Amino acid sequence: MSREHVAVIGAGLTGSLLAAYLGRRGYRVDVYERRSDPRVTGAERGRSINLALSERGIDALRRIGLADQVLAGALPMHGRMVHPLDGEANFQPYSLAGDRAINSIGRGALNDALLDAAEQTAGVTVHFDHPLTGLDPETGTLGFADGTQAKADIVLGADGSGSAVRGLLLAYAGERFDETVSFLDYGYKELTIPARDGEFALDPGALHIWPRGTSMMIALPNPDRSFTGTLFWPMGGTGSFASLGSPAAVERHFRRHYPDLLELIPGLADDYRHNPVGLLGTVHCGPWQMLGRVALIGDAAHAIVPFYGQGANAAFEDVVELDRCLDATGDDWAAALPAYEKGRRENSEAIAAMALANFVEMRDKVADPLFKLGKSIEHTLERWLPGRYVSRYEMVSFSTTPYAEVRRRVRRQHQVLAAAGLLAAAGLAALVGRAVTR
Ligand SMILES: Cc1cc2nc3c(=O)[nH]c(=O)nc-3n(C[C@H](O)[C@H](O)[C@H](O)COP(=O)(O)OP(=O)(O)OC[C@H]3O[C@@H](n4cnc5c(N)ncnc54)[C@H](O)[C@@H]3O)c2cc1C
Repeated sequence: MSREHVAVIGAGLTGSLLAAYLGRRGYRVDVYERRSDPRVTGAERGRSINLALSERGIDALRRIGLADQVLAGALPMHGRMVHPLDGEANFQPYSLAGDRAINSIGRGALNDALLDAAEQTAGVTVHFDHPLTGLDPETGTLGFADGTQAKADIVLGADGSGSAVRGLLLAYAGERFDETVSFLDYGYKELTIPARDGEFALDPGALHIWPRGTSMMIALPNPDRSFTGTLFWPMGGTGSFASLGSPAAVERHFRRHYPDLLELIPGLADDYRHNPVGLLGTVHCGPWQMLGRVALIGDAAHAIVPFYGQGANAAFEDVVELDRCLDATGDDWAAALPAYEKGRRENSEAIAAMALANFVEMRDKVADPLFKLGKSIEHTLERWLPGRYVSRYEMVSFSTTPYAEVRRRVRRQHQVLAAAGLLAAAGLAALVGRAVTR
C-alpha cells in the first residue's frame, strides 16, 4: 500500500522530531523551513539560547533512540537557587530526595541533533529557505515566498507561535476557525554570564532565580561554563524595558535590584543594547485539524509562556500522541488527526494555565518564607504518603501523567488536605472545649 505524502512546515524542534517519527513509519516527508540551515549558519540571535528539557521531552526522544545522545550535552539542574535582594542565596530542591533534575540544553544543539536525525531517516527531505506563504487545504497545494509550489496529501504546521499555517487556516475557514493570542505585558531579554577563570560563575547544578516581585531574572547553565540569563520585565511602566533605555539607567537599576549580577555580567550594557526584547504569549486556537489532512502541532497549535519550562516538552508529547493515534487507526489520517486533537487539547489548555500561574510563583512567591514552609510540608507529605501525595512540579516535570490529570489530581490533593486540616482543627476545638467545661 502506498503511503500518503506528508509536508511538514517548519524544521524547528517540533517539525524535525515529527519528520523523524513519520519517516520511521515509512512516509515520504518533505519538510519546508523558512530559515537557512542552522547547522551551517548558526542560531538566530534573539531566540532563547537554552531550555529546560524534562521527562516528557526525554520520553519522546527515548522512543526513537535519541535521548542518550541529547542528554550527553545537557546539564542537570536539581533545584532552584533563589537569590534574594538581601541575604544569602538558598537552594530549593525540585524533588523530595533532591535526586531528580531538569536538564539545561542548548536550543541550537538540540535542533541540530533533531535535524540530523530527521535527515538520516529514509524518506525525509528538508528544504531550507522555503517560507510558506500559501496553502489550499482542499488540494494540499503549498505556495512559497519565491513563487514555487508543492503538493502533499497531508500538511502539518509545525511553524511555531506565529504559524503561517494557522493564519492560512483562519483565512480559509473564517468563522469556523477560532484563534486568540494573549500577550503578557511582559517581555524577555537574554544576557550572558560568562565563565570566570574558566569556571562556572554560579552553581551549574541549579536553575537560578532572582525574584523581584513584579519581575525577575533567571539563569541556566551552558556546556561552555557560561550561563544564559533571561530578564522577564514589564514592557511598560516603572522598571520596564521601555523605561530603561540608557546604559546608565540600566546600571542604576541593576545596582538597586540585582547588585550581585553587576559583577557577573561584564557585558551588561552591550547585551542589553543589542539583544532584542522577545514577546511572551499564549495561543489558543481550534480546530487544530481540518478535512482530516491539515493539522497544527507544537507552538503553532498552543504556544505557552515559558515559566514551567514545558513548551518544547509539550510539543514533543504532541508528536508522541500523533504517532500513537496513527498506530491506533492503522494510519488512517482522517481518523488519527481528530483523535490527536482530542487527546492533546485539554492537556495543552492545562499546561498553558499552569505556566501562567508559575510566573507569579517564580517572580514573587519563591522568596516568601511561607512558600518555603509550604514546599517543605509538601516534601514531608510526599515522604509520608509515597505515591499518594505527589507535588504538581514533580508530576509536570518528572512524569508523563497527562497535564489535565495533573491539575485534577493536585486539586483533589488540596481538597483532601483542606478537609484534613478542618478535621484536625475541629478535633482540637473539641478537645479544648472539653477541657474548658471540665
Ligand atoms: C524565553 C523562552 C524560554 C523557553 N524555555 C523553555 C524551556 O525551558 N523548556 C521548554 O520545554 N520550552 C521552552 N520554551 C518554549 C519552546 O521554545 C517552544 O515550545 C518550542 O521552541 C516550540 O517548538 P516549535 O518547533 O513548535 O516552534 P519553533 O521553535 O518556533 O519552530 C518553528 C519553526 O518553523 C519555522 N517557520 C516559521 N514560519 C515558517 C514559514 N512560514 N514557513 C516555513 N517555516 C516556518 C521557523 O523558522 C522555525 O524553525 C521557551 C520559549 C521561550 C520564548
